[in-house]
Amino acid sequence: MKDSVLVVNSGSSSIKYQLVDPAAGVAIASGLVERIGEPDGRITQRHGDREGEHRGAIADHAEGLRLAFAMFTEAGLDLHRAGIAAVGHRVVHGGEVFYRPTVITDEVLAEIARLSSLAPLHNPANVIGIVGAMRELPNVPHVAVFDTAFFHTLPAPARTYAIDAEVARAHGVRRYGFHGTSHEYVSGQVAQFLGRDPGELNQIVLHLGNGASASAIAGGVAVDTSMGLTPLEGLVMGTRSGDIDPGIVMHLRRSADLDIDALDELLNRRSGLKGLSGVNDFRELRRLIDSGDESATLAYDVYIHRLRKYIGAYLVTLGRVDTITFTAGVGENAADVRADALAGLEGLGIEVDPARNGAKEHVARVISTDASRVTVLVVPTDEELAIARASAALVGV
Ligand code: ADP
Repeated sequence: MKDSVLVVNSGSSSIKYQLVDPAAGVAIASGLVERIGEPDGRITQRHGDREGEHRGAIADHAEGLRLAFAMFTEAGLDLHRAGIAAVGHRVVHGGEVFYRPTVITDEVLAEIARLSSLAPLHNPANVIGIVGAMRELPNVPHVAVFDTAFFHTLPAPARTYAIDAEVARAHGVRRYGFHGTSHEYVSGQVAQFLGRDPGELNQIVLHLGNGASASAIAGGVAVDTSMGLTPLEGLVMGTRSGDIDPGIVMHLRRSADLDIDALDELLNRRSGLKGLSGVNDFRELRRLIDSGDESATLAYDVYIHRLRKYIGAYLVTLGRVDTITFTAGVGENAADVRADALAGLEGLGIEVDPARNGAKEHVARVISTDASRVTVLVVPTDEELAIARASAALVGV
């Protein structure tokens, strides 16, 4: 238990947490607080083979964490005395200020709160989670690991929007990129798995979960990514539109009389696969497609079309690509998505092996043929482990 790291990922109404042994790379315990602020709150927790559940109203994040700690104590794991070396917090937006894991001081916390204007759905929840966790574990260093950090290397042409430069500068409008912890972790795993120096590899990483993003990584350095100022840009996602003509926003503002909050809700929560088909989960989408649902088929085709567009763009951005890697819920599980994303690209040296692609193994593996010039892989992401390792390294464990 000594030298373990508690990883906390707080969303607007939920907190995911995991106690990780960073050296062994294993989760000792994990849990999820859900529906904070609703009458039917829920906490589910696992420690070894013991599972615990709490149901009932949870007023706020601080109460959620307090109850979670009490449940751990009941299960024989007193986190106050467990010798935790650090608490690692996932923080969504680091703006231009934070580009490496950072020990959280009062000033750092104030700065994360200030960055809420760039991530109004995420940073306020992160701040509340940090404050709650600091109350529970006041004598342990708390570390912020930023989702944007890995992309601070984006070259100017990739990070700059072609809008009035003064306006952009005054309001921090540029491309930041998100899911950075996952892209960094997965690209590192690829190099390790292939026994190669990360500095030698040009990689495309496709993080396809409920949120989805693509990145182009040259020799371990991120050179482009699909998400921008916010996690709304880029690929088609579960409920987010990804790229659209910005003119649509003005058009709907004027002709559908949607105000800015309604447009935010439309593009973040009622678009993407859900907007087109009614469902955002790929398993349900597949069932609808198999039952002959035309909207679901169109949603899938739009998803694949966008994904291929980004793969094409990054092949050219990188010039030479050594690996293409699929990760996250959809990327790790949906063999049809992987096959369709890369179908017909033999001329570009990309050849997926159907049997390897169809195998259901949850470990890093190659799914391209031996003849494929580009190695195609599936690599499970593990953002919690990456946050735990970054936090442990920062506090010198
Ligand atoms: P998040 O972005 O919420 O972290 P995940 O990476 O966990 O998301 O991915 C969640 C998505 O993965 C689900 O919405 C679902 O569409 C997809 N998914 C999970 N398991 C499977 C599966 N076996 N087959 C196809 N898709 C799956």
